[in-house]
Amino acid sequence: MKSCDVLVLGASAAGIAAGNAVKAYHPEKSVMLFRNVEKTVVPCGIPYVYGELKDVEKDIIPDGHATGSGAELFTDEAVDGDLKEKVIKFASGEEVKYDKLILSVGSHPFVPPLPGRDLKNVFTVKKDVKVMQEIFDAVNKAKNIVVIGGGFIGVEMGEQFNKIPGKNVTIVEMLPHCLLLAMEEEFAVMAENKLKDAGINVLTNASAKAINGTDTVESVELASGEKIPADMVLIGIGAAANVDLAKNLGLEVDMKMGIQVDKFMQTSDPDVLAAGDCAAKVSFITGKPAPVRLASIASEEGFMAGYNTYASDKIAMKGAVGAFGTKIGDRVFAAAGFTTGMCKMNDVEYYEGNFVGPDRHPAAFDDVTMDTKVKVIFRKSDDKLIGGDATGNLQAVEMANVISACIQAGYTVKDLATTQFATHPKLTGSPLGYHICQAAENALRNR
Ligand SMILES: Cc1cc2nc3c(=O)[nH]c(=O)nc-3n(C[C@H](O)[C@H](O)[C@H](O)COP(=O)(O)OP(=O)(O)OC[C@H]3O[C@@H](n4cnc5c(N)ncnc54)[C@H](O)[C@@H]3O)c2cc1C
Repeated sequence: MKSCDVLVLGASAAGIAAGNAVKAYHPEKSVMLFRNVEKTVVPCGIPYVYGELKDVEKDIIPDGHATGSGAELFTDEAVDGDLKEKVIKFASGEEVKYDKLILSVGSHPFVPPLPGRDLKNVFTVKKDVKVMQEIFDAVNKAKNIVVIGGGFIGVEMGEQFNKIPGKNVTIVEMLPHCLLLAMEEEFAVMAENKLKDAGINVLTNASAKAINGTDTVESVELASGEKIPADMVLIGIGAAANVDLAKNLGLEVDMKMGIQVDKFMQTSDPDVLAAGDCAAKVSFITGKPAPVRLASIASEEGFMAGYNTYASDKIAMKGAVGAFGTKIGDRVFAAAGFTTGMCKMNDVEYYEGNFVGPDRHPAAFDDVTMDTKVKVIFRKSDDKLIGGDATGNLQAVEMANVISACIQAGYTVKDLATTQFATHPKLTGSPLGYHICQAAENALRNR
């Protein structure tokens, strides 16, 4: 039987960060990482394999990222274990004894009970090179591709499929707009128009009722009765936490939200921590359970879990903000925290501020984006920043990151309206027209 101080199950964003943190802050401790796939893919890079990278092998996290710190990496699947004995059993028959266990086993694609989902050429987005290659081969043979789901996974996959010449791509979204759960409606509409401009057939207020075909998929049938021809279908409607192993081990689990953890990422067992997509989260804004799963959260939770294994000054997770960015064609759309829709759903009274203007000063530079836009959202009860969106050139994602940092730092509307930012003619809007401050100032006037 092998043994180590810290056993990490899962070697993606959360697991790699956890293993590296153990080795960085508790270097005398031995670490073993196990993953149930041969290679770790860059999960957020999966869509770009199809249109831009054109090769699955270009989307791999080098193993050195996990082992460079001194951790050992193995490929095997954890299938069972005994928390009292502190032993995990693997599919190969191997058993590993640990002192501390970190579960970072991630998530899997959520698949709705759609008739026909098992037909040939119907795929979900799995973080597995074999499946990615199967999709790659199918995409290249397909002419009519239907993506079910217009959230960020479906939109990014559809946008990249559409970059391959000769493909007819349709995105089917049941809400009134794509990306509506991730960003403000007017930003979602702009993003959707970018997809349409690129030639993608975007069907909104449309739900898939069945996938038709005999052996291989032939069409997707909508609730309206319309049938869309398809020789390949990708279902991209969300991710579900991998909780079965934790449940079998006897840990407290919420089957929908994930493995229950406290603010130090500790599970119901004092020697077991969990981090990333498999761990339940609470919202930074409301403190209530939040079904948000992002690599940016996973890697920070992994870091905290690794650090906290043997630390006396443990780091506390303050809640998930949800900072997200994407690029459609030449335009970036990014958001952090709550949208106004989320405020309404959670009975949070809010006010907002907006600013649209050029991202260069003077605006005469060739690479200016005149309609760079920022929205910021504040809670009425305490004037604190709770959300924001940005769209424009590449800097829009960093604006959303600034908004995310300011949410976490507890900024009020006055703080944000008076924050000092670096500005430069060729790089940003003017100091008098810097989007985040101006949007906050607009909010201050509106409240
Ligand atoms: C197409 C796509 C695009 C995305 N884009 C973004 C983005 O732009 N930004 C962003 O922040 N997030 C994005 N995400 C979300 C992001 O990928 C996840 O939040 C992130 O991968 C979570 O990391 P994780 O380490 O918690 O879990 P995962 O990445 O799911 O990794 C889980 C690991 O556990 C292993 N494992 C599972 N079960 C076992 C077992 N029983 N035994 C051993 N090993 C096991 C797996 O092999 C894997 O190594 C995207 C997701 C997808 C699918």
